[in-house]
Amino acid sequence: MEIIVNKDKCTGCRVCVDVCPVGAITLDNDGKAQIDERCSFCRLCVKECPENAIEIVGEEKKKSETDLNQYKGIWFFAEQKHGKLSHVSFELCGISLKLAETLKEEVCGVIFGSKCDEMAQELFNRGANKVYVVEDESLDEFRQDIYVCLMTELIKKYKPNIVLASATMIGRSFIPQTAARLKTGLTADCTDLAIDPDTKLLQQIRPTYGGNLMAKIVCENHRPQMATIRPKAVEEAKPTGNNSGIIVKDNFASFNATCRVDLISKEAVEQTIDLQEAEIIVSGGRGLGDGKNFEMIRKLAELIGGAVGASRAAVDSGWIPYPHQVGQTGKTVKPKIYIACGISGAIQHLAGMSTSDYIIAINKDPDAPIFKVANLGIVGDIFEVIPKLIQKLESKR
Ligand SMILES: Cc1cc2nc3c(=O)[nH]c(=O)nc-3n(C[C@H](O)[C@H](O)[C@H](O)COP(=O)(O)OP(=O)(O)OC[C@H]3O[C@@H](n4cnc5c(N)ncnc54)[C@H](O)[C@@H]3O)c2cc1C
Repeated sequence: MEIIVNKDKCTGCRVCVDVCPVGAITLDNDGKAQIDERCSFCRLCVKECPENAIEIVGEEKKKSETDLNQYKGIWFFAEQKHGKLSHVSFELCGISLKLAETLKEEVCGVIFGSKCDEMAQELFNRGANKVYVVEDESLDEFRQDIYVCLMTELIKKYKPNIVLASATMIGRSFIPQTAARLKTGLTADCTDLAIDPDTKLLQQIRPTYGGNLMAKIVCENHRPQMATIRPKAVEEAKPTGNNSGIIVKDNFASFNATCRVDLISKEAVEQTIDLQEAEIIVSGGRGLGDGKNFEMIRKLAELIGGAVGASRAAVDSGWIPYPHQVGQTGKTVKPKIYIACGISGAIQHLAGMSTSDYIIAINKDPDAPIFKVANLGIVGDIFEVIPKLIQKLESKR
């Protein structure tokens, strides 16, 4: 495959130079576009060139070896904790129902664990048509090898068209391995999904090139089409009051699943913060100036029942561990209230919090980009504003 510039057509207008996300296009001595080895074949220049002077040649159109018509249904992996479905399961149900409006295929949950009947009823209530269940007490705890084995075998047996999981610690761990076993593609960390109305392919939408572009990725020749979707990126399916649907049970023993990992202690997992579940988040950034100043953020968070978040600058400075990072390479959050303290509002930070219901920003720079997304902006020094807030809240206790 090669990308070429038709020099007769090229007018040197620079549209391709400006649009190239990797800086692979320059103008040669004759003022014509030239493309170097940094090109990632993203096709943006091909699409944007007003003279149609750029084309990709020698591209092999692969034909699928799989009978794609055998694959039907939109599956989502429903995560549970202690027999209670987690909110991400309802988010996946919600996006699956949205896809089903165009695709006209049934929406099916997949649950591993005990007390599955109750959880299946909850999914029917949210609009799922069918729930595939593998029931065993040992499945209440996430175990990578076993989950991969079960999911792979279920997919081989029932042949779903689409399989979705949440980009949580669990989904990120076992779904890529499942996709690899099935020799199909996976788009990780999507922020949205859609169905192409013409091809009926799943469009897997996610930021790319440092958040500057949104990529639409499709899986043309392999099945199922698999994606993980960021928690809080899509709306939860609402309860419908309808509790009917079909439960399909497979016997755990029939899978012969073995696990190389023993669970020794649950302590470490339980101690980690769950930013994505928090209704209030107070986040600190480089404006704090020092790790010890996070104490002030923790205090404020504690007083209003919130969790502590951070910008990448604060994490990279070693002031707070990575699980607290909010943003493109951290967590996506959607709390009711997000308080950004000493955070500028870089695009990569906004990618993880801009859909919060109510954003409060405290920053001493009135031109900080965070104020563009803030519902309430406080232009001021965090070392003056936060202690006053803390004092006020303590006096009301
Ligand atoms: C590929 C990639 C992925 C990334 N992923 C993430 C990500 O997931 N999350 C993320 O956050 N970033 C991410 N970044 C980094 C991002 O581009 C920014 O560098 C980062 O968000 C900046 O953090 P900050 O706002 O804390 O620091 P700065 O941009 O330095 O902003 C500090 C702010 O504090 C204010 N300030 C200073 N002192 C005070 C004071 N006393 N009182 C009030 N305000 C004060 C300043 O006015 C300034 O606006 C990523 C970058 C790249 C390239």
